[in-house]
Amino acid sequence: MTEQWDEHTDPLEVIRWALVNYPDLLITSAFNLNGVVMLELAALAGYTGEVVFVDTGYHFPETLATRDQLIARYPQMQFVTLSANVPLDPWGQEQFRTDPDGCCRIRKVAPLREYLARKKPSALLNARSRDQALTRRHLGFLEFGERLRINPLAYWSRQQLEMFVQTRQLPVNPLYRAGFLSIGCWPCTRAVQAGEDVRAGRWSGQGKTECGLWVGRQSL
Ligand code: SF4
Repeated sequence: MTEQWDEHTDPLEVIRWALVNYPDLLITSAFNLNGVVMLELAALAGYTGEVVFVDTGYHFPETLATRDQLIARYPQMQFVTLSANVPLDPWGQEQFRTDPDGCCRIRKVAPLREYLARKKPSALLNARSRDQALTRRHLGFLEFGERLRINPLAYWSRQQLEMFVQTRQLPVNPLYRAGFLSIGCWPCTRAVQAGEDVRAGRWSGQGKTECGLWVGRQSL
């Protein structure tokens, strides 16, 4: 079946396939535009599993409020919030400025890796898409690695995502309408300018494009 998939394949078909073949899969989400669409599609496909969010301690209040709206919308899903067992900025050095890789490693990657090591899901359902950034332009529906990553939205454009949000009346982080097209922690996110990548506002000017969850040695 997967060999017949192409850029026109309905994400819902991919999710349904995933639920049949990997019933223990988990969703990880930061509740961005893509993530909100993904949850609605997963709900339509009958997903009742976990939605795992890593609270770094630096999220915008709007992001936490969006998460709470989604918790109310999908009572059939189990929302799990993880956090690093490390106090915020214990040495007053603003690690997010001096060592953003280390900050992401401790506050984001480590809690999720530890959780997944305990749960051992065979696959993760992920909301990334090609047109979020040049670095994601080759993303496909399936990524094989330490565990399978399934990306049903790989080929959907931002326009398709926005149309779906509008049609389904989904709760989107209000910062999105203010130009924050990809929203992470407040110290490392700015609004995007016209013509920039969706993710251009993440770690802007810091020479960093990913938190480490999805690329490189620490990839999940
Ligand atoms: Fe730290 Fe910024 Fe990474 Fe958040 S995005 S964990 S504040 S470096």
